[in-house]
Amino acid sequence: MKIGHKALYKDLIKKINRITAYSKSNSLYYKKLFRGINFPGKVASLDEFESIPITFRKDLAERNEEFIAVPKDMWADIVTTTGTSGRPIFFPFTKRDVINNSYFIAKKFSVFGLRKDDVAYITAPVERSMWIGGLSVWLGCLKIGACSLRAGNVGADKHLEFIKRFNPTIIFGLPSFILRLGEELRSRISRRTYKPRLIVTFGENIMQKDLSRNILGKSVEKIWGAKIISGYGSTEASPGFECIFQSGHHILPEMVYVEIVDPDTLKVLGPGKEGLVVITHFGREGLPLIRYANGDISFLVTRKCKCGRVAPRLGPILGRIDEKIKVKGVNILPNELEGFVLNTPFIRHYLIELFTDRNLCDNIKLYISFKGKLSGAEKMNKMNYLRDKLRETFGIRIATEEIAGHRALEKTNIKERRIIDKRAKR
Ligand SMILES: [Zn+2]
Repeated sequence: MKIGHKALYKDLIKKINRITAYSKSNSLYYKKLFRGINFPGKVASLDEFESIPITFRKDLAERNEEFIAVPKDMWADIVTTTGTSGRPIFFPFTKRDVINNSYFIAKKFSVFGLRKDDVAYITAPVERSMWIGGLSVWLGCLKIGACSLRAGNVGADKHLEFIKRFNPTIIFGLPSFILRLGEELRSRISRRTYKPRLIVTFGENIMQKDLSRNILGKSVEKIWGAKIISGYGSTEASPGFECIFQSGHHILPEMVYVEIVDPDTLKVLGPGKEGLVVITHFGREGLPLIRYANGDISFLVTRKCKCGRVAPRLGPILGRIDEKIKVKGVNILPNELEGFVLNTPFIRHYLIELFTDRNLCDNIKLYISFKGKLSGAEKMNKMNYLRDKLRETFGIRIATEEIAGHRALEKTNIKERRIIDKRAKR
């Protein structure tokens, strides 16, 4: 990718060289990887850096121990991620990693303006077994000097009591959980007596491709009367949070370098192009990661943000590479189709089915039911409109069929995913 400013470019190359040299000397995985490509240990340009092969989540899961760059007596904390691929991945954090983590998370929170006088209401568990997420939120608040309220997993009555008593200014957590909590408390707390100034979420996507809020994001904003912003993170690396202008995740350049690559050719893509998120982390001593793809799909936004920050931002997480299916030569993320359905006002219920067609190719079908009572002609008109819109959006014809409504497919229950995979396993 092009980095316009000369000083920034030089600084990035310096940081890259520091982490490649460290990994080459200390991590068996990178030692072998670099030996295999005759890597001299230093790069002079991003083009050279891009010749380093990408490491995938599968590599990290299968060869977890080889990645570790410090002896056991330097381990200060062990965190883990289970993910989807079965074998959990362990990350030993050194003391410096833990300190770095709280420094970086505080920097990320300052992007959306967390202040000393804020009361942070943390609905995600801080104490979940070996999980870094909730703990990081707590550490970030501590570093900034804000007060944390570790509400965690309690019932609606307790939440109501805490909120009334401590008047939290920022709510942290999973957007679907915060939505559900808002629905449960709606009749018991008035907007006049309580309104947070911000809702900060992670773990689920709340953005559309144009960076506006998706239906989940909009619903949370409506029920709480506050702006919602997105954070993108994983145990492996968490590039950053949005600012109050809601225009994509601000990447912290001192912490990570993010590239987007084509999932097939693995070539680096320009701004706005969708592909695999590839992360190089500059601040991990225990388990360094260079050009690491965790499987998420997104794109970079390089236009200047209204907040004045110029570093590239990461768009919404559109899905995961293992969910991507190729239909008639076109890549489709079932997530994206779901986003489209959620934004189509006349659809009441839906179901997305992935299947193997009679040519043994992957295919996709959308089942819907309509809102309200419609005549046969009205239904036909709406169905034709839907098919045209689908073709326009996804570039192929997607089969659609009306089904009788069933509660399990209700669109209003946003948390439940309506995608079933019936494809033959090969
Ligand atoms: Zn901004």
